[in-house]
Amino acid sequence: ARTPLLMGNWKMYKTVAQARAFAEALGQQSSALHGGVEYAICAPFTTLHVLRVMLPAQVKIGAQNVYPQKEGAYTGEIAPMMLAEFGTQYVLAGHSERRTLFGESDQMINHKVRAIVENDMVPVLCVGENLSQKESGQTQAIVAGQVVQGLAGLSASDVARAVIAYEPVWAIGSGKTATAEDAEVVAKEIRNLIAEQIDASAAVSVRILYGGSVKPNNIASFLQQPNIDGALVGGASLEASSFADMASAI
Ligand code: 13P
Repeated sequence: ARTPLLMGNWKMYKTVAQARAFAEALGQQSSALHGGVEYAICAPFTTLHVLRVMLPAQVKIGAQNVYPQKEGAYTGEIAPMMLAEFGTQYVLAGHSERRTLFGESDQMINHKVRAIVENDMVPVLCVGENLSQKESGQTQAIVAGQVVQGLAGLSASDVARAVIAYEPVWAIGSGKTATAEDAEVVAKEIRNLIAEQIDASAAVSVRILYGGSVKPNNIASFLQQPNIDGALVGGASLEASSFADMASAI
């Protein structure tokens, strides 16, 4: 059975002081965090250390980006080893904001995914169609292309440990969610695709999250779907009380 995963993505929010306040507040509500579920927060680089020290032990830390080189003259970038060194467990790759605002290609995203795996961290490959692609019936083709290119070159056991987040671009930060049933259709397509093109047992193990306007009052409907194993949450992960409410709801 796949362990459910509740993952926050803080994006470019929170100073160290604010991250510390979040960790303290979540610590006071840690009875909401139950066994049998994994929790993680993908936070700005500058807050990872304080979170690692102060978050309740059940909550793992993740990064939102990485540069796929060991070290070198890459001004402004962060290497995989720099993240792995102090206990970063997850790293996002291919978030739609990286794809659209920073021009990341599927090839660059694949380099990141491979670098994350090579450094024993878990890649969270984000995929999803935008509104015009959805309206022109391209969802399945877009998502399939992003999944296959994003995971290229990984072994079956690496894919089994990986996480894929299906985040329809039109649902991010918009207050609109896919229906749980529509998200399940895409999650199932992703799982079938991995079974056909990569490995059948990896397809059984890989965790698929839904993301896009997930809140305490709708998270359960997604988690009830057979092929959705968790949620990747932006806005509603910024307050400890709302993170705890989501934990309680699943
Ligand atoms: P929201 O939950 O704020 O819609 O953001 C979703 C997202 O992009 C998570 O990565």
